[in-house]
Amino acid sequence: MSVAVGSLFTFDNSYARELGALCEPWQAAPAPAPRLLALNGELAAELGVDAEALRAPVGVAVLVGNATPEGASPVAQAYAGHQFGGYVPRLGDGRALLLGEVLDVHGRRRDLHFKGSGRTPFARGGDGKAPVGPMLREYLIGEAMHALGIPTTRALAVVATGEQVVRETMLPGAVLTRVASSHVRVGTFQYAARQDPALVRRLADHVIARHHPDAGDAENPYLALYESVVDAQASLIARWMLVGFVHGVMNTDNMTISGETIDYGPCAFIDAFDPATVFSSIDHGGRYAYGNQPGIAQWNLARLAETLLPLIHEDTDAAVEAATEVLSSFADRYGRYWSDGMRAKLGIPGAEEEDGSLIEDLLALLKVQRVDFTSFFRALSSSLLGDAAPARALFAEPDAFDAWSGRWRARLTSRAADPRETAEAMDRVNPVYVPRNHLVDEALAAATAGDLEPFHRLLDVLARPFEVRPGLESYALPAPPSFGTYRTFCGT
Ligand code: AMP
Ligand code: MG
Repeated sequence: MSVAVGSLFTFDNSYARELGALCEPWQAAPAPAPRLLALNGELAAELGVDAEALRAPVGVAVLVGNATPEGASPVAQAYAGHQFGGYVPRLGDGRALLLGEVLDVHGRRRDLHFKGSGRTPFARGGDGKAPVGPMLREYLIGEAMHALGIPTTRALAVVATGEQVVRETMLPGAVLTRVASSHVRVGTFQYAARQDPALVRRLADHVIARHHPDAGDAENPYLALYESVVDAQASLIARWMLVGFVHGVMNTDNMTISGETIDYGPCAFIDAFDPATVFSSIDHGGRYAYGNQPGIAQWNLARLAETLLPLIHEDTDAAVEAATEVLSSFADRYGRYWSDGMRAKLGIPGAEEEDGSLIEDLLALLKVQRVDFTSFFRALSSSLLGDAAPARALFAEPDAFDAWSGRWRARLTSRAADPRETAEAMDRVNPVYVPRNHLVDEALAAATAGDLEPFHRLLDVLARPFEVRPGLESYALPAPPSFGTYRTFCGT
């Protein structure tokens, strides 16, 4: 159905236009009784769209896929991917559609993308649908990541379809509208590489123009593109690690070329610091454990390199050598982003040789004493202002903390920084509020049962993660012991 809603968005669909071999024109399945559950007013404004127009029935019809706005050219995108290490040659948008691309008020190109909008030619055995809970979860965690300053796709809206979807139980269905700088994945390159080298080149040219324009001016643009992606991912994963985020399903089809976090499925934030933390019920081997994420990113980037070799150099050995050199730089790049981030979390000015062991020793201490990762850094800044009790209280054996803290304070005073300024700088990078698993579960259970109030309250808390607000004390606390060991079920 096409409805005259042309004034909502101004589309310019470069992907559908330039890369027809990598997508299939398709339409969303009709939703019987759409109801808007959440709309991101701030993001709507950024897209240059009137939020009130999106809230109106015709706007909701667009956001659920019942009306195709003028200028849209909905396509299901093809991609392949290594899932838990095993190659699947044809995945693609099984229940998603790229509605089109819009230029936002800053002139940036953004994809508008549905998830849960019905079966597509890539649906395989799936029903093409999505329940309300997981779509609101993607909305919530994406917004939390954005507020934490981490590159991510964002949610524009979640609309309930009025239909029930069959999972372990019957659940209310929903469509998520997601906004991304693009949906090109490592898996998109893998898919293209199996089709035709000329297609990989067209895809590479598309993403150079769109995400890594500097690479276009390099002597070897495709090698420079690769280096740009390696660097963007090193930075992204460091940011995840610094806030305790576990993606949970870092398959190559869930890794973007832009460097944005994508596909919030069984993801979660760690409470106690432990590199072995796994939340996903389907990650039996712990492949995507918190501490494995940098190594997995590098593994995924090796898969990307394989697709680019023919573009990098006509001589395969020369191509492999050049790509390997860039890939090997991942560890250093990641290490730098991560150490700089850790120094900022600890208020450490400059960089000294001894910082490495100071950081390593702290992490060992946090792990052994199972200290809450998020709470620790805020308590640490308080300790700088004379109140060491909150930090000490996080340790079963505070003497070990005291000893470490003495070294840390000596390192700080070596540069004679003002403690208040240091504490304030720490508080600007260490969140008070993260989407703790028990809070997310609580909000989504209520939403699934029809009460959206806890969801909107939590969304509001997570929108300003660095600022202590009175009355929100419970949002800063770890899960009560009764919550037990957390598992997220893909249940998508
Ligand atoms: P994900 O694990 O969500 O990243 O999805 C992996 C692949 O499975 C993608 O190709 C999805 O499009 C597809 N998929 C996931 N759930 C469904 C569903 N309910 N119906 C059709 N395809 C799906
Ligand atoms: Mg995915």
